Amino acid sequence: VPRRYAIDIDAVAEAEALLGLRSPVRVFIRRYEWLDGRYIALRDGVHHVGVAHDLSARAASKTVWHELTHALQAERLGGERAFRQQWWAEMRAAGVSRPKALRGEGRAYRRTALEVEARANERLHRELALTTRLGRPRTAGTRLTAWPAWAPM
Ligand SMILES: [Zn+2]
Repeated sequence: VPRRYAIDIDAVAEAEALLGLRSPVRVFIRRYEWLDGRYIALRDGVHHVGVAHDLSARAASKTVWHELTHALQAERLGGERAFRQQWWAEMRAAGVSRPKALRGEGRAYRRTALEVEARANERLHRELALTTRLGRPRTAGTRLTAWPAWAPM
């Protein structure tokens, strides 16, 4: 499946400033079986976040807003480790099983405080899109393939 979006690096930088993030964010496009995205880690002062390769441009933008919010939460809580502890503590308190938490499944998962805030910020996509839509790739049968063999490339 061809990718339908590209990350808009300038828009992500704008979003970082808007949220008041102290450390910059690097967005990685990844293959995920269950997730749309995830907060990966804070490495050498850079937040690494992942977004699934097979999303629409709109869904990917919303997901990046979601993960930027987790980056902000990590800074607010005093680091990645504290964020992970808090996140798992909320999952346990909500009675979310480990597999469900890892898959981001269920209503209880969605109601934990950190996830509620991250999901609320997804709507910032409407103010500022963090992805650009990629055009449809040309396929066999389009004008391009009908060009003569000597066409300059
Ligand atoms: Zn989340």
